[in-house]
Amino acid sequence: MIVMQGKGVSKGVSNGKLYFYKRVDTTVTQQTVEDIEAEKARFAEAQEKAMAQLGVLADKAREEAGDSAALLFETHAMFVEDDDYVDSVMEIMEDAQCNAEFAVRQTGDQFAAMFKAMDDAYMQARSADILDVSQRLINNLMGVAEGGIDADEPVILAADDLAPSETIQLDKSKILAFATSGGSGNSHTAILARTMAIPAVCGLGEELKEEYEGRAAYIDGETGQVIIEPDELTEKALQTKYEKQQEMKALLQTMKGQEDVTLDGREMMVYCNIGSPEDVDAVLSNDGQGIGLFRSEFLYLASSDYPTEDEQFEAYKKVAAAMEGKRVVIRTLDIGADKQVDYFQMEKEENPAMGVRAIRICLNRPEVFRTQLRALYRASAYGKVAIMFPMITSVWEVKECKRACASVMSELEAEGIPFNKDTEIGIMIETPASVLIADALAKEVDFFSVGTNDLTQYTLACDRQANDLGKFFDAHHPAVLRALKIATDAAHANGIWIGICGELGADVTLLPTFLAIGIDELSVTPSSVLPLRAEIRKSIAKTCTLDLLEC
Ligand code: PEP
Ligand code: MG
Repeated sequence: MIVMQGKGVSKGVSNGKLYFYKRVDTTVTQQTVEDIEAEKARFAEAQEKAMAQLGVLADKAREEAGDSAALLFETHAMFVEDDDYVDSVMEIMEDAQCNAEFAVRQTGDQFAAMFKAMDDAYMQARSADILDVSQRLINNLMGVAEGGIDADEPVILAADDLAPSETIQLDKSKILAFATSGGSGNSHTAILARTMAIPAVCGLGEELKEEYEGRAAYIDGETGQVIIEPDELTEKALQTKYEKQQEMKALLQTMKGQEDVTLDGREMMVYCNIGSPEDVDAVLSNDGQGIGLFRSEFLYLASSDYPTEDEQFEAYKKVAAAMEGKRVVIRTLDIGADKQVDYFQMEKEENPAMGVRAIRICLNRPEVFRTQLRALYRASAYGKVAIMFPMITSVWEVKECKRACASVMSELEAEGIPFNKDTEIGIMIETPASVLIADALAKEVDFFSVGTNDLTQYTLACDRQANDLGKFFDAHHPAVLRALKIATDAAHANGIWIGICGELGADVTLLPTFLAIGIDELSVTPSSVLPLRAEIRKSIAKTCTLDLLEC
């Protein structure tokens, strides 16, 4: 038996085989090969495999989202067989007597640079396609599985950490649990795990070794332990815990259909956070009363080019319609920092968490912003959509966002396209600046939603991705709780509602504090709705105190 200790970031017990995420080694090296003909044959095989993969992807995209979605993969297939591209790969292999991987990487980089230098924006964007196709060929040459999991049965997925663009591509039906050596409770792997209601442990450090691949293990998302081949006694204890957990789940089902009201009649709206339209099923099955945060960036992360207005409209409409008139807060694009999207071709930044991210990208790229706003307003005709802007620090940003909304509304009006002109507009409170000017911001919008993940990071100057900050990263810090109080007072003084959509919202130990502060809404992962409801229904709001705000 081997016991590894990390940090539990998504509760629950699960068991299965450990499987290490297969990541493409992008550092392709040049190697001299003697048999160039054999290398050419390897390349031809990789091409053939790529054509088959792209055929499957195009069919799947056509089935799920129509011909325009399939076009992307058909374009990629054209690149795979493009004469100039293939000639260049052959020439490099022959001239340098080198391996196919190196020739593909060189060709891909050269072609991508050539496209990027073109005047036409459409052609410039093709540079990302070339890089994508080249990566696919390299994956095939190296025998690396696409999407990271090449197992026949569901597994405990082990990794150092996973980037958001990697998690988005995972085949979720194959994941029993996550075990990572890096990461933190606020990392996107942890958020994804909680949304999927599967156990996760992060921060295992060097204890998590690749040599454990394929070994049977238990993971306990509460204690933060990963146990390989437990002895009989330990296995029995874990099994009992698993069964209790299932019983608890059954008990919580009785909370469905009940109101989110305290014993003394104070209402707390309990909404859900989602990352893609597929998550709506979990919202409905857990009886979420609305969606308080739809992270729209999934559309951008899952795609290899800018998602079109129609693609976005379909996704937003699907969620709005499925929620049948319940509020759906859709956050505009929040990329940058740890969420990198290649085709945005962002400059590399020394300190990306404080760089050009989220609303800053949208305000710098009005066309990208306009496309998303058009899709959002069009979707507003199909449900109760609200639009929310992330990473706000200044009043002028909000005014500019509102101007962009007004301009999109007049366009749609002129085109005779239906939309809801009373669509609520809100902002995320996730920077100390927004807290300090919350009184002025509240005059501009219909609601606030506090992003405690970023607010904690920026208030305490603690990187949310880092796992070694220990006691310095304290989400219960009075500074964070006081920030909540300042924003809440400003919201209420101006007649608007305020919620929390960061991970802290699901922390039931803070529920009395949230009630005392006056928070109106908590938006949590769907699996946290019923436990939170059970807690709200046991609480007495008027006895709650602000004690935790004291230092
Ligand atoms: C937050 O910062 O709390 C938040 C909800 O946004 P994200 O986690 O997507 O940055
Ligand atoms: Mg945030």
